[in-house]
Amino acid sequence: MSTSSLPRDVSAALRPDGDWVARFADDVIAEADRRGPGRQIVCASGISPSGPIHLGNLREVLTPHFVADEIRRRGRDVVHLLSWDDYDRFRRVPAGIDPAWAEHVGRPLTSVPAPPGSPYPNWAEHFKAPLVAALDVLGVEVRAVSQTQMYTSGAYSEQVLLAARERARIDAILGRYRTKQVVHQDADDDGSGAATEDDGGSAFGYFPFKPYCAHCNRDTTTVTAYDDATTAMTYVCEDGFTETVLLRDFRRGKLVWKVDWPMRWAYEAVVFEPSGVDHQSPGSSFVVGGQIVREVFGAEPPIGPMYAFVGISGMSKMSSSRGAVPIPLDALQIMEAPLLRWLYVRRRPNQSITVAFDQEVQRLYDEWDALARRVATASTGAEVPTGEVAGYLRSVGTATTLLESTPRPLPYRTLASVADVTTGDPVQMVRILRDLDPEDPVISLDEVRPRLDKAAAWVATYLPADQRTHVVATPDAELLASLDEQQRNALRLLLDGLQTHWSLEGLTSLVYGVPKVQEGLPPDAAPTPELKATQRAFFALLYRLLVGRDTGPRLPTLLLAVGADRIRQLLTPPP
Ligand SMILES: [Zn+2]
Repeated sequence: MSTSSLPRDVSAALRPDGDWVARFADDVIAEADRRGPGRQIVCASGISPSGPIHLGNLREVLTPHFVADEIRRRGRDVVHLLSWDDYDRFRRVPAGIDPAWAEHVGRPLTSVPAPPGSPYPNWAEHFKAPLVAALDVLGVEVRAVSQTQMYTSGAYSEQVLLAARERARIDAILGRYRTKQVVHQDADDDGSGAATEDDGGSAFGYFPFKPYCAHCNRDTTTVTAYDDATTAMTYVCEDGFTETVLLRDFRRGKLVWKVDWPMRWAYEAVVFEPSGVDHQSPGSSFVVGGQIVREVFGAEPPIGPMYAFVGISGMSKMSSSRGAVPIPLDALQIMEAPLLRWLYVRRRPNQSITVAFDQEVQRLYDEWDALARRVATASTGAEVPTGEVAGYLRSVGTATTLLESTPRPLPYRTLASVADVTTGDPVQMVRILRDLDPEDPVISLDEVRPRLDKAAAWVATYLPADQRTHVVATPDAELLASLDEQQRNALRLLLDGLQTHWSLEGLTSLVYGVPKVQEGLPPDAAPTPELKATQRAFFALLYRLLVGRDTGPRLPTLLLAVGADRIRQLLTPPP
């Protein structure tokens, strides 16, 4: 079936409930109604564009996306805020970037030049752009908020003054956790927020606001004096620069992370915002933020589930050579948007997930196609677990959009084999695809796009060179000459049957049937250990003669790809 042909009324017939998304939506709606009935419901994500925004960070966005989308499906007014923490300091120069960028450490991410060759105006924009592009493909609708814009425009002025006034109280809250010696100090810079940032200790006592120096624009500053009555603040920079400013008019600095985050929960009235495991240990920013938002900003923390890590398979060589981890656009090169959404929605946030760049992607696609078939039959009354149906419906579209899908979703592994044996040649690909099913031939590659393009990209980028298929240029004369009578006979049976079996189904029964005929068994004989051994030996011989190895893509696909004339040439023993 085609996902695009999923009848509109299926979404109505199959209510997407019974999964974690529906349960969080229940909780968030109840909580929002308790806090402020009739108000727009706010779900939020926060991303620091300090480097490549990887597939783990995508969970920070997709988790609230699914919940907000479900709230929208229920007809409620909801917004998904994406807070860009682009006013965070540049913390270190990542591998692969000119060491000269060390000069910018301590400056806001929006004041650091983009990496060489980038078309973007600064570091933050350079790393935001690919995520924004991926979210668009994934059908994720967000309202982006730049923290640089918010802080430098003075939007948070009142909140900054409040935090300054309440510094002793904030210091006391932080102190409860400091004494436990569990504050997270060693987390790596994973782009998910400033988990390790200085929490605001200073020479004259605790101060929760960090100025960027007027001379060097770095946050290598220490506040040395603050007057509550006038809001006069004096700071000194490591470079010796010092000045006294009025905090109420000052626009070049920000609250330290552990105060900044709860301030924004209050400012935006956030009801749902998940966070990564590094933000949820005792003494970490989510836990401390929950105290600060209540005791200082007079608001409540969001419902905030912890989401687990996202693993990657099949990218280890790749990532070490590029000095980077894969980003969502990399995954979208090899898989369609609905499949990537499904990988994130089918598991609860606290379960880890894996995005496959290796052979596993083929198995995931098989599983996805099987689910699509089950959902299609469910619309006619068959039983499918509601959680699975919900996961499917949330993957193929949102409350407002049905995502692009492949009109004729042939198995990914078949398309990958076709792209592999033809090295992506469109004329050859369409010839093979036409022959797959002569009853209902593929006429144009557009019928199998975009899935075909994803499978072809996977073959070209991630299939190891030693696993690619190269059809041999000339017959293996030596091997052909060495065949015994039984082997010659098997090849003859295959060649004689080619014309009448020229389809995926026909060739499948032919290659399995030849050994049966040889063993004197009927075509529908059940497999025995002896028969299986004969089949394996026959397949290995065919692979040897066609591609010079003992294994290869599924034989029927390979035979269709090689073509009948070429098969005869490569498989005919000398007389
Ligand atoms: Zn300075």
